[in-house]
Amino acid sequence: MSTDTVNKDILRGGQFLVKETNCEDVFTLEDLSEEQRMMRDSTKEFVDRELWAHWERFENKDYAYTEECMRKAGELGLLSVAVPESYGGMGMGFVSTMLVCDYISGATGSFSTAFGAHTGIGTMPITLYGTEEQKQKYVPRLASGEWFGAYCLTEPGAGSDANSGKTKAVLSADGKSYSITGQKMWISNAGFCNMFIVFARIEDDKNITGFILENDPANGISMGDEEKKLGIHSSSTRQVFFNETKVPVENMLSERGNGFKIAMNALNVGRIKLAAACLDAQRRVIGEATKYANERIQFKTPIMNFGAIKSKIATMATNCYADESASYRAAKNIEDRIAMREAAGNTHQEAELKGVEEYAIECSILKVAVSEDVQSCTD
Ligand SMILES: Cc1cc2nc3c(=O)[nH]c(=O)nc-3n(C[C@H](O)[C@H](O)[C@H](O)COP(=O)(O)OP(=O)(O)OC[C@H]3O[C@@H](n4cnc5c(N)ncnc54)[C@H](O)[C@@H]3O)c2cc1C
Repeated sequence: MSTDTVNKDILRGGQFLVKETNCEDVFTLEDLSEEQRMMRDSTKEFVDRELWAHWERFENKDYAYTEECMRKAGELGLLSVAVPESYGGMGMGFVSTMLVCDYISGATGSFSTAFGAHTGIGTMPITLYGTEEQKQKYVPRLASGEWFGAYCLTEPGAGSDANSGKTKAVLSADGKSYSITGQKMWISNAGFCNMFIVFARIEDDKNITGFILENDPANGISMGDEEKKLGIHSSSTRQVFFNETKVPVENMLSERGNGFKIAMNALNVGRIKLAAACLDAQRRVIGEATKYANERIQFKTPIMNFGAIKSKIATMATNCYADESASYRAAKNIEDRIAMREAAGNTHQEAELKGVEEYAIECSILKVAVSEDVQSCTD
């Protein structure tokens, strides 16, 4: 990153509302570097070949195929884009991580849910809050797709009120391990994961605590059946039960009582990524809809010639263009802010957390707007 970029007066989070925007500072997809274009193209190639061409398998609850594709994505390095190089990842910038998330999510929500749960909430709590030993032990396996991760926060009585979970962590008499007991539900990737990020309460602590827990049925871990969902049919979603499951004390994430902060910060980064994950589906739907409208003849003319159809396609394209532009503009702001913080002495992890937090307004707007648009586009 050049000194110019580091020093430039980037609009801070939310300032687009009150400050003049310098047009040269607005990033667009035309500004992508050669490396970013190659990353986008190889992601798209993977999606066309492995996902788009086999959409029936995803509709028909082929959970094993989702897992197989996750493993192939790992072999191609697509699970490691955001992981620092020191832990076996590619250590690419925020815009590149958005690009991969965008293009990998276009063909099926089943795969994009598995991808998001693994690379986001399944891996990030360790890269952001893990000790050096925890990172060295778990992150390279997660980055390569040798292992898959899941995130256990939600419980029957703890959804939006995530800090109210009843899962308990009890310290052993010798002080060497915690025993975890409780019920988690709607856990993505549960059916094929090798490890969980689990949140549990120690004694009567105000806040929950995070743990890294390896998936071993012999250690008091059992699961419910796959949930019957209205969509994302091949994304594994199960209940997970912990019954006096032992976890060594060194697998606590960060400090006792810090779990709620970890849980929320992992979800913060997920907001803008969710917007990215709703972009390529719009591009693909617009392409398919346009093709169909040109081919389908009624009243002796392609239906594309009717005003109402043209208006629908135009609205779909308009929303997609606005969503794409706003998502990458915010992503580049975040990337620049991360670089500025790193230049000022923050670790990459601190810089990323703060960078995303600073653009919380943009991330929240994008999450809501882009997910609404992908819904109306497909309707
Ligand atoms: C497909 C799928 C995959 C999931 N994967 C995971 C996973 O991997 N790991 C995990 O931990 N969890 C997962 N979840 C759970 C998800 O995070 C929860 O569904 C979410 O936190 C909301 O909780 P809830 O569904 O219990 O809704 P509730 O909290 O019961 O909310 C119900 C309704 O009330 C509204 N509401 C709640 N509180 C307020 C308030 N204060 N003000 C106004 N309205 C309010 C909500 O907006 C919502 O409309 C998954 C869920 C689904 C459906």
